[in-house]
Amino acid sequence: MRFRAMAKINLALDVLGKRPDGYHDVRMIMQTISMYDTLTIEKKPEPGISLSVNLPFVPTDERNLVYRAAKLLMDEFRVEEGVRMNLAKFIPVAAGMAGGSSDAAAALVGVNRIFSLGLSTQELMERGLTIGADVPYCVMRGTALAEGIGEKLTRLPDAPDCFVLIGKPGISVSTRQAYESLDLSSLGERPDIDGMMRSIEAGDLYGMADRMCNVFEPGISGRFPVIRSIRDLMEENGALKAVMSGSGPTVFGIFDDREKMKKAADVLKHSGMAKTVYGTALFRPGRKEGHQ
Ligand code: ATP
Repeated sequence: MRFRAMAKINLALDVLGKRPDGYHDVRMIMQTISMYDTLTIEKKPEPGISLSVNLPFVPTDERNLVYRAAKLLMDEFRVEEGVRMNLAKFIPVAAGMAGGSSDAAAALVGVNRIFSLGLSTQELMERGLTIGADVPYCVMRGTALAEGIGEKLTRLPDAPDCFVLIGKPGISVSTRQAYESLDLSSLGERPDIDGMMRSIEAGDLYGMADRMCNVFEPGISGRFPVIRSIRDLMEENGALKAVMSGSGPTVFGIFDDREKMKKAADVLKHSGMAKTVYGTALFRPGRKEGHQ
């Protein structure tokens, strides 16, 4: 069985404060896009989990979130058969697009289905939270407000149709470092999340794009100026707005026209600033068959 693990972007990302347990309280608008990894799962008679990945630098043991997700359910339900899984990664790694979390979500959904465990979406989301704060959202997908550490989810109406250009420079940013270097006493511009929710409800793409903002961006793009350069290039080439996703370094631009997006993609490719350039659109869970 094949499952798609969809990437996410943060249309808006705010950090409210640090909690006593070391995590941060956030407020974010999450959106799934049509960029995905593919997870193939099959049963095998011998017990245990075997995982292969198309990228040599991604671990295939317990360090891989897919492995952990499968093990979590198989241990809980004392599954005696084994699984063989292959992960074909396309979502850039350590990019702020929740690639690993989405792979874990696909593994939860996949193992639940292949062994007929009978868990509901809500029950899969609860188990996903023990793997990572973004995993419940990756099970849910679509447009959502995420609060708490990212696990308190409120489904929003679908964001208005638009085109999304992804540009990821060839650098890596660790999420942990991004939080550690965040100075909560001087965050600079904060996103108007309530205003963005109103724009989404009204189907107002321009109002939504206008309110895109990520509190991590000034700090991370200060360290890596190529992020700002990619953002400026997208905006000079027709993006309604471009911002960084998650803790970076991926930048995404929102376009109201596919041709404009394609042209901007060409300019970005020729600039040599981005290692990954990918033009896509929003993904709506209802329109296509769920996780498969
Ligand atoms: P987020 O948006 O949640 O911050 P991310 O894009 O920053 O996610 P990932 O791509 O999920 O980060 O991976 C970060 C690290 O996690 C990698 O360096 C990798 O070693 C490890 N990892 C574990 N499982 C996976 C997986 N299935 N795919 C990619 N990386 C994984």
